[in-house]
Amino acid sequence: MSYPDAQNPYGFDPFLQWRENCDYYLEDAFAQKAVRVFTGAQADQVDAAARQISPKASFRWRKLADAIAVPEKRPYMLHYDGHKNRIDRIVRPYETLVMEKEVFGEALFSDKTHPWVRFIKMYLIYQNGEACTACPLTCTEGMVAVLERFADSPETRTILAHCKEGRNGEFAIGAQYLSEIHGGSDVGANRLEARFENGQWRLYGNKFFCSATHADYAVVTAKPTGSEKVGLFVMPSWLPGDKERERRNGFTIDRIKWKMGTSELTTAEITLNGAIGYPVGPLDRGLANMVAIVLTYSRLTVGLSGAASMMRAWREAARYCRFREAFGLPIDRFPLAAGQLARIERGAKRTLAGAFQLYRAVLALPGGLAAKSSTGDSDDQKKKRFEVRELIMLQKIATSLDAPEVLRLAMSLFGGHGVMEDFSALPRLYRDAAVNELWEGPRNVLLTQIHRDLLNASGWYGPDQFVANILAGAPPTLIEDLQREIVDIFAHPNLFEMSPTALSTCERWDSFCHRLFHAYQDVAMDLVERHG
Ligand SMILES: Cc1cc2nc3c(=O)[nH]c(=O)nc-3n(C[C@H](O)[C@H](O)[C@H](O)COP(=O)(O)OP(=O)(O)OC[C@H]3O[C@@H](n4cnc5c(N)ncnc54)[C@H](O)[C@@H]3O)c2cc1C
Repeated sequence: MSYPDAQNPYGFDPFLQWRENCDYYLEDAFAQKAVRVFTGAQADQVDAAARQISPKASFRWRKLADAIAVPEKRPYMLHYDGHKNRIDRIVRPYETLVMEKEVFGEALFSDKTHPWVRFIKMYLIYQNGEACTACPLTCTEGMVAVLERFADSPETRTILAHCKEGRNGEFAIGAQYLSEIHGGSDVGANRLEARFENGQWRLYGNKFFCSATHADYAVVTAKPTGSEKVGLFVMPSWLPGDKERERRNGFTIDRIKWKMGTSELTTAEITLNGAIGYPVGPLDRGLANMVAIVLTYSRLTVGLSGAASMMRAWREAARYCRFREAFGLPIDRFPLAAGQLARIERGAKRTLAGAFQLYRAVLALPGGLAAKSSTGDSDDQKKKRFEVRELIMLQKIATSLDAPEVLRLAMSLFGGHGVMEDFSALPRLYRDAAVNELWEGPRNVLLTQIHRDLLNASGWYGPDQFVANILAGAPPTLIEDLQREIVDIFAHPNLFEMSPTALSTCERWDSFCHRLFHAYQDVAMDLVERHG
């Protein structure tokens, strides 16, 4: 019961004060334990790096990210300057430029930065969900990885050095342009043409989804004239000396898209009319290298950034529910709300633990993801490489479905304030999370690929054995249950014939993959929970 009070003194200050002073890493006991469990001999170094960057991410960059995320600061294009020169300038707010310089200035891709240090720093940076910084971070990571393997010309080596070690303190930014207007799922159907003219490759045609359009370089898929195979090129946005003059390298930016999520990041439609590109790897292996190296890093990032946004959502929702009261009780004292908070906590923790465990498996691969050839691998290594490839796709599809659901649930615990864009960052993180299901391989495409891979590998690696190996440490009854399910699903291996059996197999496969990856994550989460 309460009496009338025209001067209602209610305010959110206790919650806001906590949020204002919340250091992401110091408040994240689970991530601190995960560092101890998964990063081995690097644990002290990784922990120290997290403590060093966390105040920047939690205070300075969070405030910049919040300031950028308003409609009036959305990036826009200036196609011409005042003297009728075509410039295609992407105009971004000052806060973005400051944040970008500082985040890229962390030299995350430098030889001096250990991969685990990069991992933990990215986890903390991703909690702000500022897509105009977050997206090109992972694009640059993939570009560096593919160039480390294939840079064999002065131009590609210079680009690699620019991305990794910077030039005069400026670190280059990467993008990736694959998708074309007639279909992004099937990159093999690309029509962009690469012509060899006067001793260099030039690109002609259109790309329809080009995010991080402000980048210095993009990896671009294109077919050499007369070939059905997709090649891979790295294209500078400006040739040396042209950036200052704003004269782009033979392409125009036709339009930037109006998006629901990742709005602070431009995604553009571009026309290439003789843009110079430098080949990356054999031109008949471009698609394979793009998928196996570049997209693989982006897919790993979907897992890690999903964990980051869910962890932030859990932290803020839990605190809000302790502060906010309804019917005279703090919200978290209602069993319905407490149960929902527990679901959010579980989603966040299992996703983070799974991302750590998978990254450890990636780092354990001889030569890493971009290894030259797997022919020298032992049988055991071949299986491990296969497991990692499939787990990365499984993580991508599981997290991109879990994150929006967890964020939605967290928003619901804020009641009406949950959808207010100026109350918390959750609506923005939620809108961004929806994008993760679509880019870097939509769900159906990855489900089909995993199915095809397991079928092809069944001669040397049975699907039931695969399940048992990736779930080592899980309860035996769960492993047996999932083994039985996969054997049953593979008894009807055709996903493409339009029949009632195929429809039901597809549905079972979709939900099986989700359950399988949750089981993998839960093994990792238990390891962290049981750590002292
Ligand atoms: C915000 C945003 C930014 C993006 N940025 C970039 C970028 O920087 N660079 C880039 O290259 N691309 C980018 N993309 C494009 C993205 O990668 C594509 O949207 C994606 O690959 C799907 O292509 P599509 O949109 O043409 O869908 P389509 O290929 O038309 O697919 C439509 C639907 O069909 C389904 N489908 C396709 N094949 C199968 C199959 N075999 N079985 C069952 N279902 C199937 C898909 O799962 C999807 O649901 C971006 C997308 C978004 C949303």
